[in-house]
Amino acid sequence: MRKVYLDSNATTMTHPDVVDAMLPFFSERYGNASSVHSFGREAKKDLEKARQRVAAIINAESADEIVFTSGGTEADNHAIIGAAEALKEKGKHIITSSVEHNAVLNACRFLERRGYKVTYLGVDEYGLVDPGEVRANIKEDTTLISVMTANNETGTIMPVDEIGRIADEKGVVFHTDAVQAAGKVRVDLRETGAHLASLSAHKIYGPKGVGALYIRKGTRIEPVAYGGHQEKGRRPGTENIPGIVGFGKACEIALSGISGHAEKIKHLRDMLHDRIKREIGGIKLNGHPEKRLPNTLNVSFENLEGESITLGLDLEGIAVSTGSACTSGSLEPSHVLKSMKVEPPFLQGSVRFSFSAFNTEEEVIYVAGKLPAIIDRLRKISPARKPA
Ligand code: PLP
Repeated sequence: MRKVYLDSNATTMTHPDVVDAMLPFFSERYGNASSVHSFGREAKKDLEKARQRVAAIINAESADEIVFTSGGTEADNHAIIGAAEALKEKGKHIITSSVEHNAVLNACRFLERRGYKVTYLGVDEYGLVDPGEVRANIKEDTTLISVMTANNETGTIMPVDEIGRIADEKGVVFHTDAVQAAGKVRVDLRETGAHLASLSAHKIYGPKGVGALYIRKGTRIEPVAYGGHQEKGRRPGTENIPGIVGFGKACEIALSGISGHAEKIKHLRDMLHDRIKREIGGIKLNGHPEKRLPNTLNVSFENLEGESITLGLDLEGIAVSTGSACTSGSLEPSHVLKSMKVEPPFLQGSVRFSFSAFNTEEEVIYVAGKLPAIIDRLRKISPARKPA
């Protein structure tokens, strides 16, 4: 059966050049970067080369500001818990948004159970946080603001530059989860003024299980795990050199082609959206029409369940998602769409199509050809179907 992958916000294919870059580190170049002999020194050199490549993708001032982690989830946990702990003498209030990834939300909930206070800001109909609300909620004891750069479900791009300026003015640490943004759109952390930012390799054609936390020079943060002296004592454990090298290569590829890839991907995304609008009634775009990742199209189909549509598409070999990978499989409506106050007939029926540079026009035509019949069939059997 033909296979079409439109779930690149869940994960991407590992780029063949990334695989090639990683392979020697599983065989002849297996040194531990902490060892003093030649094997170790070589590994250390490759580790630092990757660090520079990752730093470049977010325009960090120095490669020293990059700490490698096991992925975006660990980076989010480290940022939230580590910064809150380092600043707890100053205060115990954190501001975040209600549409963050669970890695941020659950780290905040953990802190709430330990006596911290967390304000979860709502969003508008497009999923945007209002910087004015961020400002209005900063109190004497606020130490940390965490707002994502781009949302994983809708692709909506947040006003992080403005939030960064407010945080700077008020002397509050600003963390942004840039997992879905970095490598897809231009992310310039010096411009944003973020103190902390989370990154992940597998959303940009890198390997799974590797990511990074950007820690701006001078930012106070505690480690969240304890062990050896690796990563300057900020994150212990033998470094995942093959993964880190792959992450570095993925960043290099992204940086060299960001605008070209983005244009091509946006064209495919908009082509599918146009076809859906033309051929299927009762649909709604979730997310901001323009301030949105070029690869993300989240559409709700009125009175249907996203899960049934996903299964219908899967039977045709088409991979999509109802929202974030971590919550799919449950029929709970997405916390992101609920926060955006999406109307009940559209709340359950969302499907996220997320594209990569490997998709083609021909694939879009295939998907657009299969979708109307699936929607039609499901609407005929939907209990919520309005009488003709
Ligand atoms: N943050 C966002 C916005 C994400 O989309 C994801 C992955 O879905 C994560 C964090 C977690 O990243 P990882 O899968 O590398 O742990």
